Amino acid sequence: MTRGIYFGIDLHGHVNPTLGLMRELTDRGEQIRYYTGEQFRERVEATGAEFAAYRTPLGFGTTDGGGIETLLVTAEFILERSLAIVDSMLEEVRDFAPDYIVHDTFCYWGKELAARLHVPAISLFNYFAYIDEMADVDPEFFMEYVLRAGNDPLYTKYKGKTDVYRRLEAKVSQIIAMKYGIRTPQIINDIFCSKEKLNLVSTSREFQVYDESFDDSYVHTGFAIEPRAEPDDFPFDWLDGRPLVYIALGTIFNDAEAFYAKCLEAFKSSDVQIAMSIGHHVSPERLGPLPENVIVRPSMPQLALLRRATAFVTHGGVNSIHESLCNEVPTVVVPKSFDQFIGAISVEQSGTGIYLRGEEWLPSELAEAVRRVMTEPSFREASRYIHQTLEAAGGPSRGADAILAFAAAERGEALTS
Ligand code: UDP
Repeated sequence: MTRGIYFGIDLHGHVNPTLGLMRELTDRGEQIRYYTGEQFRERVEATGAEFAAYRTPLGFGTTDGGGIETLLVTAEFILERSLAIVDSMLEEVRDFAPDYIVHDTFCYWGKELAARLHVPAISLFNYFAYIDEMADVDPEFFMEYVLRAGNDPLYTKYKGKTDVYRRLEAKVSQIIAMKYGIRTPQIINDIFCSKEKLNLVSTSREFQVYDESFDDSYVHTGFAIEPRAEPDDFPFDWLDGRPLVYIALGTIFNDAEAFYAKCLEAFKSSDVQIAMSIGHHVSPERLGPLPENVIVRPSMPQLALLRRATAFVTHGGVNSIHESLCNEVPTVVVPKSFDQFIGAISVEQSGTGIYLRGEEWLPSELAEAVRRVMTEPSFREASRYIHQTLEAAGGPSRGADAILAFAAAERGEALTS
């Protein structure tokens, strides 16, 4: 038995994909300490890991992550958090004496603490992965889908004439070197993804966009749903056999009254039942009297509903997309922020659903997209295929094998060097 630390992000979307891996490690006798926010204590402890809290909330997810300035703003945000955390936690982490450190890609402090303590480190992607090498395959990818600067005047002026993204990255890299003394030309890999010698990605290569960009240091471990307790107040006997369309925008950017109103308009007289999770920001009264085929709740038992759904209208969060794929339910994706745009492209390219672009779509276009994914067999067939690839990639067991083999090999090397 050895001991490891996991540094996580205090957001549902980043915690959910890690739980199966943590349970797998503790089942194998590993002693794991898991750092995240207090609200996740119970779920972490249920995996057999020791829960530990950061001293203050991390504050990720407070901007929508779009625009040219995002590159510098996010890099500085991560590095400032990292400086404070390394400073305040170095001794506590040293006292635990970890044999290895696994960290969310956003937790640069995990990389830094591992380097300071000379222990092997592994980075874990809990969102749709984007790495620097993707820009070699598609120079416009980062501008269009990661920074979402497609309409930025600076970008449109130089688009096609010069690689705007690489120039921007070089600029940011200079500022980071001056301000933090970190010299790297690869801001995305080294700061946003805290790249290590081993990096685990929670999807399959078949579902990965630009998968040819990923070298052998990346291990795609697929995705497996870790069972969890869900809200138990959903009236399942309300479901009467009509096709069920589940609608949800995840846990962060779900303050979207206009979106929910458009959904009601789209499905008010259709022959489907709608279960719509609207989050805690929008009060149900704001949506007016509901048609008989619609139910809304601030939060819904997503896993249980996906087992019954015929289609899922989703914001494209990494968990939502994969939970849908694991149930072979085709999606219509309406991305709102961050990596959800990459999720939407992954869905489109794999044929597992439809990416509804822009904000200006009409209710009738949403209804048509949902009708297509429900009735054209190719969407469900593609979802079944991707589900198989997610299972075949090995899940938590493959992840744990990779971590433990890598950590042992690194420690062996360290001993003989
Ligand atoms: N979720 C849920 N019920 C809801 C809304 C969301 O159980 O009503 C869960 C969902 O199953 C997923 C997570 O919350 O596991 C959302 O994560 P995702 O990565 O999809 O989106 P994020 O919240 O990070 O934007």
